[in-house]
Amino acid sequence: MAEKITMSPDGSLNVPDEPIIPFIEGDGTGVDIWPAAKLVLDAAASKHGHTVAWKEVLAGEKAFKETGEWLPDATVEAFRDHLIGIKGPLTTPIGGGIRSLNVALRQLLDLYVCLRPVRWFQGVPSPVRHPEKVDMVIFRENTEDVYAGLEVQEGTEDAKRLIEFLRATYGWDIRPDSGVGIKPVSETGSKRLIRAAIEYAARRGRKSVTLVHKGNIQKFTEGAFRSWGYELTREEFPDVAVGWDDCGGDPGDKILVKDAIADITLQQVLTRPDEFDVIATTNLNGDYLSDALAAQVGGIGIAPGGNINYVTGHGVFEATHGTAPKYAGQDKVNPGSVLLSGVLMYEHIGWQDAADDIVRALEQTIADKIVTYDFARLMEGATQVRTSEFAQAIVERL
Ligand code: NAP
Repeated sequence: MAEKITMSPDGSLNVPDEPIIPFIEGDGTGVDIWPAAKLVLDAAASKHGHTVAWKEVLAGEKAFKETGEWLPDATVEAFRDHLIGIKGPLTTPIGGGIRSLNVALRQLLDLYVCLRPVRWFQGVPSPVRHPEKVDMVIFRENTEDVYAGLEVQEGTEDAKRLIEFLRATYGWDIRPDSGVGIKPVSETGSKRLIRAAIEYAARRGRKSVTLVHKGNIQKFTEGAFRSWGYELTREEFPDVAVGWDDCGGDPGDKILVKDAIADITLQQVLTRPDEFDVIATTNLNGDYLSDALAAQVGGIGIAPGGNINYVTGHGVFEATHGTAPKYAGQDKVNPGSVLLSGVLMYEHIGWQDAADDIVRALEQTIADKIVTYDFARLMEGATQVRTSEFAQAIVERL
């Protein structure tokens, strides 16, 4: 019988054999990649005695056509009520009241972790010589920083008022023809993000957590993020993890918590990727880092993501690329991103066997050089297949 996933009092998820999981198909290429991903997800679940009762909910263009709203309340409520869901890419309405549907959903459900694992799959074409050395998991803060959307436009009364207030109160001399944005970074927001990263590292046997920040310049936001990370390590994880300064870089069998400045990190993830494991970082740094890292291991078509609140149990897993409208409905693009987001979702709900099977079958398909156009153009001797054929090939290898 189909049932909802619920949260136990001890903070773990209760997952029935037939959980109801809401999904948003997504705009543009969503019509291609979602059915393909679903085919594989269903086949892998059934191999292990599970069934997903998928429940379609609307957002984006499909929602706008049917209900006149881009993100209907019913959709947000379905995700709230069922805890775990998945979504394809959504168009960002231009000039509408909503900045981005993805950002809105993250804020409404307070999904404070953007989880982006980045690893290489055997056979995937990559621009670097040793993509196999990349195996990182990014915990990007998802609710604060410049993404909070606290901005005033140049030339408006609001901008003039704010600039005048800042001059009168702090003596800050801001050019009158400036737009101004506010970057909040709180102790609460930083610590819950870093807590989730350390707990993940402990659960998964990871070796280090690197706090990536720009604290040399932005001392009271990015610098504070770093300090709060070390403070949290000492206060909450003395048996599990240790900060660099507290162990001279030698953590013994504990998780090493270290830090790195964002610009240097972008160099070092290229030159010494094996020195990074779990990364915890603020919102904008995390945005740049996850795309730069995804490029190293084969790019946008296969990078998965999850938006999670580990306290309430809510998680929305999503394709990290956009709607690629020029390819919509052509059965052409790579379904890997939404499929691997489904794998992340299965791992999150404890269906590790099914998740592992999909990864193995996907690797085998790519090793057999059966790939969609994006990989085919970078590989020699590849057989280029359609989105649906790629999914079928994975299912045959499950
Ligand atoms: P995009 O849709 O990500 O497409 C950019 C390029 O990425 C494509 O032209 C294609 O490259 C490649 N690509 C995207 N999806 C792929 C897939 N499944 N397989 C293989 N290659 C893929 O970015 P965009 O054109 O800038 O944005 C289009 C719309 O998506 C906008 O409305 C934007 O706001 C929205 N968006 C949504 C999300 C989200 O929902 N999470 C994220 C980003 C953007 P080639 O042409 O080189 O093959």
